[in-house]
Amino acid sequence: MADSQPELPEAHHADLESMLSRKFGKEVANYFSGSPLNRVSFLRTDHVFLSQAFKHPSASFLLFNELSPLVRSSAELAFVRLADIQPLVGPDPYSKPEAELIRDYNSAAPTPQLIFLGLDGRWRKEGEDKSGFVYKDVYKGAPFFALDVTPAEGGGESVVALRSKAEDLIKKFEGEDLRFEGGRHILSFPALDAAIYAAARHTMDWNKRNPFCAACGYPTLSTNGGFKRTCPPADQNPAAKPLPPGGTLTTSTIEPPTNRPPCPTRNAISNVSFPRTDPTIIVAVVSADGRRLLLGRQARWPPRWYSTLAGFIEPGESVEEAVRREVWEESGIHLGRVVVHSTQPWPYPASLMIGCVAQAVPGEDGEKIDMGHDAELEDAKWWAAEEVREALNVGSAGLGEEPGKDYKGGLRVPPRTAIAHQLMLAVVERGFVGGGVPKV
Ligand SMILES: [Zn+2]
Repeated sequence: MADSQPELPEAHHADLESMLSRKFGKEVANYFSGSPLNRVSFLRTDHVFLSQAFKHPSASFLLFNELSPLVRSSAELAFVRLADIQPLVGPDPYSKPEAELIRDYNSAAPTPQLIFLGLDGRWRKEGEDKSGFVYKDVYKGAPFFALDVTPAEGGGESVVALRSKAEDLIKKFEGEDLRFEGGRHILSFPALDAAIYAAARHTMDWNKRNPFCAACGYPTLSTNGGFKRTCPPADQNPAAKPLPPGGTLTTSTIEPPTNRPPCPTRNAISNVSFPRTDPTIIVAVVSADGRRLLLGRQARWPPRWYSTLAGFIEPGESVEEAVRREVWEESGIHLGRVVVHSTQPWPYPASLMIGCVAQAVPGEDGEKIDMGHDAELEDAKWWAAEEVREALNVGSAGLGEEPGKDYKGGLRVPPRTAIAHQLMLAVVERGFVGGGVPKV
């Protein structure tokens, strides 16, 4: 296995024996889960809390430029301090209550996207450290935020000024031997930092994709510490888009009267106002006799690279049904029982990978591969458990990496940071299916 692969996070209470752990085995915590942060999501509307957390000397900020995080190296995120970012964000973006920010909304005066990620309570374990942040005597730990420093696009005085400040900040950090790490799928940070990064990137990406209300089409404002897009009833921008033909002025409990049309997101909790997570199934398919695994490959992958089958869950589908449909569509295999093994947040851009193990229906009707339905995969085939085991041990690597020099096998598989790897491991090494899989 390539040495560059980070360890997985530790499962919660990994050593605690329970009825569930005896029946189902130990919990597997996949890479990108296991964040050390307490999100205290119920405090996101409390600007007294956010303001104090933001200004506390222990606060850390993770910066993104076009969704690329600021790093010291490919294996180390660079968290910066308040003084570093104040030229861009000002003294306190939470100085006014949220209702006032909504009332005073002006689409011509954007502010940099800031996200409150949570409180890192680990300092308490170190004993006498009293420097951590404490709110209402209960909520403790160093605050973490994410900040978008992508230079704003467009014209207008406020936008040009903001762009210039962002560009200055980027130059400053790049002059300090830091850089914004590009690349499509970063999988190189240590587990705890990776979990913080995953939540930050997912939420940042969602904010950037949703500058307009999905219900009425007007510009939205980031609220709830970056976890909501609010569609304000009024826009102080004199050049704001006028009401559409037939639109009428309405009044609101928040003054001044609205100059935007009514929007259903203001009257009830609306799912278009909150970050989305896309459920995705990924499955290790085991033959009826438990001795083989079904793996498939896409044409764009490196030679010999195979993985478990995966796909998005569709509306009106259970996890089990999505697994059976995807596997039949991509390989022609018919599945019987489907069991959830573990899950993985996947911030590229917004997936939750629901990792399953499933067993094929015995015989020609169930296990015969037919690639004639969906053209998504270039190939799918059954691999002996022994071959998969060897590939996991010595032949796994990221998509752009080479496996260890000693590996001469014909199968390459994803690194341990991918849930696909953990699902295969569960079957061929850890007896997840039971007694059917022989060990070498
Ligand atoms: Zn709206």
